[in-house]
Amino acid sequence: MGAKILVSACLMGHAVRYDGQAKPLVHPALDRWRGEGRLVMICPEMSAGMPVPRPPAEIAEGKVGADVLSGIARVLESQGGDVTDGFLQAAENALALARETGCSYALLIDGSPSCGSGFIYDGSFTGLRLPGEGVTAALLRTNGIRVFSDKEIDALVALIDAH
Ligand code: SF4
Repeated sequence: MGAKILVSACLMGHAVRYDGQAKPLVHPALDRWRGEGRLVMICPEMSAGMPVPRPPAEIAEGKVGADVLSGIARVLESQGGDVTDGFLQAAENALALARETGCSYALLIDGSPSCGSGFIYDGSFTGLRLPGEGVTAALLRTNGIRVFSDKEIDALVALIDAH
């Protein structure tokens, strides 16, 4: 059995996003890895008990996932509800699952306040992007898991197939 990969459930076609949609990624490597039993799916937010659909949430005030982990930033819903604790639990759940199942890689959808690894949104709910990681991606990286965004799947394929 080769390397295992933690994957955002919404990338695998599960309708678990805040808006009740999926964001499926079609790539032959995903089918192959699934057949090889390498994929470990999780929606961190659902694992922490968040419903579908749920209000959109962003990390407040232009901060990033690492700031949430260190307690200096909050995750807020568009109507102002504070969901910081849920997002921290979501990240812990993803890390625990990655450890239990031996995932050294993660393939997560970009832009999410949990799963984003290249960009997130700036907390103004106006669609403005900010380079940075969501809470789950930041915690995984801090713990040595190599995180790739959906747009980086070819780089992940090259890395895994080289081993
Ligand atoms: S938390 Fe991650 S897996 Fe769950 S819906 Fe958001 S982006 Fe997808």
